[in-house]
Amino acid sequence: MAKHILIVDDSKTVRNLVAFIMKKEGFKVTMAEDGLDGLEKLYASTGIDLIISDINMPRMDGYTFIKTVREQDNYRDVPIVVLSTEGQEKDIQAGLNLGANMYMVKPAQPEKMLRNVKMLLG
Ligand SMILES: [Mg+2]
Repeated sequence: MAKHILIVDDSKTVRNLVAFIMKKEGFKVTMAEDGLDGLEKLYASTGIDLIISDINMPRMDGYTFIKTVREQDNYRDVPIVVLSTEGQEKDIQAGLNLGANMYMVKPAQPEKMLRNVKMLLG
């Protein structure tokens, strides 16, 4: 069965681009437009295998989203990749400290994104 990836980003352009890259590779994709929407979509889906999340988003940012996901036993182990324009060391550390497995700075090369996603999916 196809692995299911949740893409959380307030930019429709980024969401659609990442979704295109993942779908082309055979992954199933669900999209959310901010952290709150991401939580709703996560709870509504039975098998999210990996999350790709932005940081700067309205309503609920990526830091709060990741923290909330990680606080729950059910989602303690789901791989999370941050995809953000914020590329400073403090941003990267904050993301990783909250429980993200990987931090990628936009714009990320599709090949590199796919390589990382596949690695995290084992
Ligand atoms: Mg954003």
